[in-house]
Amino acid sequence: MQQSSFTADSIQLGPWEGRPAVQQPDWRDHPAYQEACRSLASAPPLVTATEIRQLREALSRLATTGALLLQLGDCAESFYECTPRHTAEKLKVIDWLGDRLGELTGRSVVRVGRMGGQFAKPRSQALEWHDALSIPSFRGHMINSDLATSVARKANPRRMVWAYEASDQVQRVMRTYRRENGPTAATEGPWSSHEALVVDYESRLIRRDPDTDDRYLGSTHLPWVGERTRQPAEAHVALLSAVVNPVGCKIGPTASPDDILEVCAALDPRREPGRLVLIPRMGRDRIQEALPPIVRAVVNAGHPVVWLSDPMHGNTVTSQVGLKTRHLTDVITEALRFRDILEGNRQHAAGLHIEMAADDVTECIGGSVENEDELPRHYTSLCDPRLNVNQATALIEAWATGTTTGRS
Ligand code: PEP
Ligand code: MN
Repeated sequence: MQQSSFTADSIQLGPWEGRPAVQQPDWRDHPAYQEACRSLASAPPLVTATEIRQLREALSRLATTGALLLQLGDCAESFYECTPRHTAEKLKVIDWLGDRLGELTGRSVVRVGRMGGQFAKPRSQALEWHDALSIPSFRGHMINSDLATSVARKANPRRMVWAYEASDQVQRVMRTYRRENGPTAATEGPWSSHEALVVDYESRLIRRDPDTDDRYLGSTHLPWVGERTRQPAEAHVALLSAVVNPVGCKIGPTASPDDILEVCAALDPRREPGRLVLIPRMGRDRIQEALPPIVRAVVNAGHPVVWLSDPMHGNTVTSQVGLKTRHLTDVITEALRFRDILEGNRQHAAGLHIEMAADDVTECIGGSVENEDELPRHYTSLCDPRLNVNQATALIEAWATGTTTGRS
């Protein structure tokens, strides 16, 4: 890890400390824990305050200009796919899809990758089964190994340092790419994002903006809290409430309007455009009942949020062959219903948050992947099933044209 003259100070002490945090690795007694935390606390930030301001400004203009937001990438990034070559391939696909959405809608498109730090996963089950043996679940390369042995699945705090290094590699390539793609890149990106899950890691990467003295999260441009970690009085929300980055929050089908108003009060107390991105992920059917009252409550409370559809996470099913999958038709249906609900409430439906791969994976069903039998052919996801480029293109075209072709 690179060293700088930065010394950890009171900025890394804040309102998240002492609060409960769910989904955290049990590694405080590991002999490498203290050293790993110290190493992160003295490392240079991975993103700059200037970049964060540029993204916030771009997000603050979406509703008034009708511009769109496209956030996409792996469910879980792999340490082995952070090379300049892998990163360049991902950036090419992000831009290709962003350009396609822009062409079809005549709108400009802000691009955000789930990359440069998307290494930690919340899990519903602590254990998983492999050939009649139960072992701890994979929790992302920041926490444990994807290899299916109980030793490999032990949480290792050194992985936080490796995650920092891997993120740094990706962020450097992204920065060069933005620079080479000229002035539009100054707002359109591609910017980085990930779920701010591991409090030990994120809290040690808080830095102070030299120009404004504000605290910002130096691990990524756009951190979000997940459906499992958005409790308003707990550590994850408290941590994001203490930084000036734009922040996201996933919303599952069981969230009540009051739950979301509490999250809005914590994350957007000053009602600032460009600050908060709300990301419903409710499922094709449940979105119909669950989303409208939440939209109305947030609008009535005066929070100028960005509304983004994640049509993936509420539509996950287990196939006969035992692999998790998603049907493109369900994904498209949820995305279009999201748009109808937002527009019916005279709100800007800003775009899509999707899990996709830059190569030709067979993880979701639809398009070239005709049925479940084809899933094992090229299923390489470390966690949730991703759309391949053809499937993501079909989703974007359906969103742009508002048609339901392919809907079953
Ligand atoms: C994810 O985005 O990979 C994820 C776990 O999402 P959610 O919090 O919506 O379940
Ligand atoms: Mn996922």
